[in-house]
Amino acid sequence: MGVSKSDSIIIVGGGAFGLSTALHLAQKGHTDISVFDKDDSIPPRFSAANDLNKIARAEYEDPFYTDLTIKALEAWKTPLYAPHFHQTGFFHCVSGEAPQKAIETLYRFQASAEKNDLIKPHVSAIKNRQDARDGCWQLDGELPGWHGYLNKFDGYVHSGNALAAVYRAAQAAGVRFFLGEQGAVEEVVYVSTLTGRKASGIRTKNGRFHPASLVIVAAGAGVNRLVPELGTSVVAKSWSVAHVHLTDDEVSALRGIPVIYARDLGFFFEPDPKTNLLKLCPMGGGYINTDPKNGVSYAPEVLSDSAFLPEEDEAQLRKLLAQTLPSLADRPFVRKSLCWFADTNDSDFIVDYIPNTSDSIIVLSGDSGHAFKMFPVLGSFTTALLEANDNKQPVARWRWKEPKEAGKADWGGDVSWRLGQSKEFASILPRRAAKL
Ligand SMILES: Cc1cc2nc3c(=O)[nH]c(=O)nc-3n(C[C@H](O)[C@H](O)[C@H](O)COP(=O)(O)OP(=O)(O)OC[C@H]3O[C@@H](n4cnc5c(N)ncnc54)[C@H](O)[C@@H]3O)c2cc1C
Repeated sequence: MGVSKSDSIIIVGGGAFGLSTALHLAQKGHTDISVFDKDDSIPPRFSAANDLNKIARAEYEDPFYTDLTIKALEAWKTPLYAPHFHQTGFFHCVSGEAPQKAIETLYRFQASAEKNDLIKPHVSAIKNRQDARDGCWQLDGELPGWHGYLNKFDGYVHSGNALAAVYRAAQAAGVRFFLGEQGAVEEVVYVSTLTGRKASGIRTKNGRFHPASLVIVAAGAGVNRLVPELGTSVVAKSWSVAHVHLTDDEVSALRGIPVIYARDLGFFFEPDPKTNLLKLCPMGGGYINTDPKNGVSYAPEVLSDSAFLPEEDEAQLRKLLAQTLPSLADRPFVRKSLCWFADTNDSDFIVDYIPNTSDSIIVLSGDSGHAFKMFPVLGSFTTALLEANDNKQPVARWRWKEPKEAGKADWGGDVSWRLGQSKEFASILPRRAAKL
């Protein structure tokens, strides 16, 4: 189809993909861009990136994503993004009790880092507790059996603040925002054509129709409600997040620590000096919320339903702290939640037109829990698609995926970098019903 610079473009979702896409389109000269988000401010509380921090590590098992992240890290060092990028390093290990799968994954990551000429000089091996303390002296726990590597090329990004910065930049570039009641999208509206159908715009939950020449759906874990055609090819999945509140002195003492990551336990970050919070995430297969009627997992619509930490995750995080920073091991966890994202079975993104829609609607999905490190370049994936001569997604792995058979959505353990199977949200909510 091809959109002209003055055609109206609607982006559903003001999270990582949506905001970056809005800014990239505006920078390419598109003049009629509107972003719709169901939350009433940005960063939206429903965004998986509404957070203190996300890991920005360049090494992937797959060199395609390594190269992409190296480009993104360059962009993180430019003025708009630099205040939110902290190159503190990535301390990547397994504990002495790690299963073989976690150890093998760690070795593949290490090999990838050591194979890359840019990254290699920043990598040092951690073979024992002394190496670990040389890399991060603040770790005064026993670190039983911990080994792996430290990569100083990597670090973390303040994702909530980065979203806010790009929101302001997009507004300044002329992008319009519809938030809260005005921005909650009920459905994509289609009209019939000779060859199928064509998106003509969106309808918000307050009943208003907004026409558009091109609709871009970047709704994160909410995508299955707006693009049911995806079926089980995208799974709404969640991982836990929790925080420990520190004193000013504790924050000061932990300043500059690398991201501490044990593949079999979980990870934590340098504390945030504004809130004094140290953020932790356990590693595991995550939680899905499958509708038995169609086998599709949907993120709960009400935020409070996800505002808790499953017991098994709490136990794992306590173990992580006991082995690394034992003085914090019994500290209460605060700001606990399940954070929902859109998972695919190969961890590849989906950046493509919905088939048979005359190229009127693009889906940006399948972030698979690893997209934020690429925030500054996410929007370029859509501009490249719009510029493709044959209107075909140039990156084969990001093309539309046909849904899998219903009931085959629990693929957590099949992905090489994941550990453990996904569990049903309902099974960790003994006194509540799952909300679909
Ligand atoms: C616990 C956890 C840890 C993570 N750690 C990392 C990490 O260390 N490094 C990394 O790179 N990535 C990480 N990620 C992944 C990263 O957060 C996501 O890849 C990224 O946020 C996905 O962006 P998105 O735009 O697809 O979705 P989101 O950022 O979730 O945005 C989707 C937006 O769509 C809006 N929306 C949904 N439905 C509607 C509707 N009907 N109407 C209007 N608006 C709607 C939502 O309000 C939301 O703002 C992590 C994710 C989780 C859950």
